[in-house]
Amino acid sequence: MNKNDKIYIAGHRGMVGSAILRRLQEEGFTDFVLRSSAELDLRNQAAVADFFAAEKPDYVFLAAARVGGIMANNTYRAEFLYDNLQIQNNVIHHAWKNGVKKLLFLGSSCIYPKLAPQPLREDYLLTGLLEPTNEPYAIAKIAGIKMCDAYRSQYGCNFISVMPTNLYGPNDNYDLQNSHVLPALIRKFREAVAENQPSVTVWGTGTPKREFLHADDMADACVYLMQHYDEPGLVNIGTGEDISIAGLAELIAAVAGYKGKIEFDHSKPDGTPRKLLDVGKLHQLGWKHRIGLQEGIRAVYQEAKDEG
Ligand code: GDP
Repeated sequence: MNKNDKIYIAGHRGMVGSAILRRLQEEGFTDFVLRSSAELDLRNQAAVADFFAAEKPDYVFLAAARVGGIMANNTYRAEFLYDNLQIQNNVIHHAWKNGVKKLLFLGSSCIYPKLAPQPLREDYLLTGLLEPTNEPYAIAKIAGIKMCDAYRSQYGCNFISVMPTNLYGPNDNYDLQNSHVLPALIRKFREAVAENQPSVTVWGTGTPKREFLHADDMADACVYLMQHYDEPGLVNIGTGEDISIAGLAELIAAVAGYKGKIEFDHSKPDGTPRKLLDVGKLHQLGWKHRIGLQEGIRAVYQEAKDEG
C-alpha cells in the first residue's frame, strides 16, 4: 500500500472499521472512500456495483457485517445468514470486477468446529460440526473465506481472510440483549456500581472460556497483514490466551470497584465451551498483540463512563 492509494473501508462506523480508519490515518494514509449504511446498503447488488464502478478503490477492508453476541446470533438466524452473505458477495465480486489490488475479509473465530482441539489452528476449518447458536453467521463467514480463495485461484485476485477472536473496544455495542459478553458485563457492572445493586447476573455457568483482543490491536494486525500477507487460506488474529467467563466477570468487577455478589443464570446458553485461537502463524508472520486484557478493560471502562 502506498500513502496515496485509495482505500475503501466497508463498515467504517463499526468497532473494527473505525479502528482500522484511525490506524491508517495515524500511518499517513489520506485517500479514503467511506459510506455509512444509510448512504450505501451493501446488501443491494446494484448499488454496490455502481459504487465500485464510480469509486474504483485500490484497497478494500471488508469490515461490514451483521454482528452480535450469542443471543442476537441465535435469535436473528435468518438475517445473520442473509445479510452477511449479501454484503460479502457484493463487495468481493465487485472488488474483482473493478480491479481492486487487494481485499481483506474479516471472519470470526466461530467458524471453527464446536469440538475442535484447542488452540484452534487455521487448518481445523471444516473438520466438524459448528456451534448451533451461531451456525448461520459461521456459514456465511466460511462462504466469504472460500469466496476470497476462489477468486484468487480462478482470477488471480489478492484477497485475504483474517479470523479475529472476540473483540472489544471503542464503538462497541453495549446493548444488554444483543451485545457480546465483554461490553455487556462492562455495562452491567458500571450500572451496578452506580445504583448500588447487591448482585450482578452473568449468563450461563461462567465456565466457558474466551479469548479477547482490543480493536486497536485488531486494526494494527489488519493493516500489517494488508502489507505483509498474500496467501490463500486464513490467518487467526488473537492473543493466544483465554479466560473463563467467571474470571472475566471478576476482572471487570475489580476494574469497576464492585464489591457485591456475582450470580450465574444457568437458563442462558453457554455457547461453545472454549474458543482459543492458535496464533502461531500470526506470530511467524511478525505480528503480536500489545494491549493486555486488564489494560484494555480499564480503557473501555473509562470510555464507557465518559460517555455516560
Ligand atoms: P460467543 O463468544 O459467540 O458465545 O458470544 P458472547 O460473547 O455473547 O458470549 C460468550 C459467553 O459469555 C457465553 O457463554 C455467554 O453465555 C456468556 N455471558 C455471560 N454473561 C453475558 C452477557 O451479559 N452477555 C453476553 N452476550 N454473554 C454473556
